[in-house]
Amino acid sequence: MSAYCGKYHDELIANAAYIGTPGKGILAADESTGTIGKRLASINVENVESNRRALRELLFCTPGALQYISGVILFEETLYQKTASGKPFVDVLKEAGVLPGIKVDKGTIELAGTNGETTTQGHDDLGKRCAKYYEAGARFAKWRSVLKIGPTEPSQLAINLNADGLARYAIICQENGLVPIVEPEILVDGPHDIKLCADVTERVVAACYKALNDHHVLLEGTLLKPNMVTPGSDAAKVAPEVVAEYTVRALLRTVPAAVPAIVFLSGGQSEEEATLNLNAMNKLKGKKPWSLSFSFGRALQQSTLKTWQGKEENVQKAQAAFLARCKANSEATLGAYKGDAAQGGLASESLHEKDYKY
Ligand code: 13P
Repeated sequence: MSAYCGKYHDELIANAAYIGTPGKGILAADESTGTIGKRLASINVENVESNRRALRELLFCTPGALQYISGVILFEETLYQKTASGKPFVDVLKEAGVLPGIKVDKGTIELAGTNGETTTQGHDDLGKRCAKYYEAGARFAKWRSVLKIGPTEPSQLAINLNADGLARYAIICQENGLVPIVEPEILVDGPHDIKLCADVTERVVAACYKALNDHHVLLEGTLLKPNMVTPGSDAAKVAPEVVAEYTVRALLRTVPAAVPAIVFLSGGQSEEEATLNLNAMNKLKGKKPWSLSFSFGRALQQSTLKTWQGKEENVQKAQAAFLARCKANSEATLGAYKGDAAQGGLASESLHEKDYKY
């Protein structure tokens, strides 16, 4: 049997292509309640519904920001929240031409007999949940699988199981009208060099596309969200041009040209680093059959969060910081970022957390 050709076929293709529109990218604002709690704790703000809502409103209602954004990934709670004046967030996004997305995985669980490797949970009742989220306005979904680089990692078991889990998730999304973002994140943790990261990225991404094809996933109606190919967090950094060369080469070898867009995660890079690396990829000459954009969480929100501090009087300044990052990343999707959004040091802070959970 061939790829998915059910009732959402054309809509999936159109929405995936739209998200990959050059000049636009994705804001990942789907931190689970636990993860957003850590962010709020870093600015001494209590992790309660009203504060989570206030942060998301600050982001979504930043004047001018949504022109640079084609999709926002939400956590289930946020999908149903409203602005202080009572407008559903979903409507705020839709009116600005932004597709609402939804995180549908339920986090990772350890694989017995491995050195702390994991698989991602959430397949039970996934179809039902996708149908409900579509009904609420979501048009794409995210599922994060996590792999790591170590002396014997990633194991073939972890590669296969996570690829299969992503493919199973992807086809269930498509059957329910949601464009699946396929996210096989290889953590940056470790002392490895960029070459090893490239090799592992190629093995992992190749396994994912084998599984996606086996599961009859319509590739034109999907997006890939990979890590950039970089040296490990305990190794010396390399220039954006080097990251660009290794990353694009690894993806050229493994991502079919049928995929409309690759939207990178930031993975603990500083805001400025992530933008410069994306910009370098888009400046790189040569064959690139997909658009290369962003689906950043930490690298779009960190200076905004630090500027906000949970205080009403800081909202405007925080929104200015968010707008600056959105605009910089939009320029980076066109290879046109001039490095002018560095914002007095905040944007250059490392956002790396070991063994990152989302
Ligand atoms: P970061 O950009 O902070 O790595 O997160 C993106 C994301 O959505 C991870 O699933």
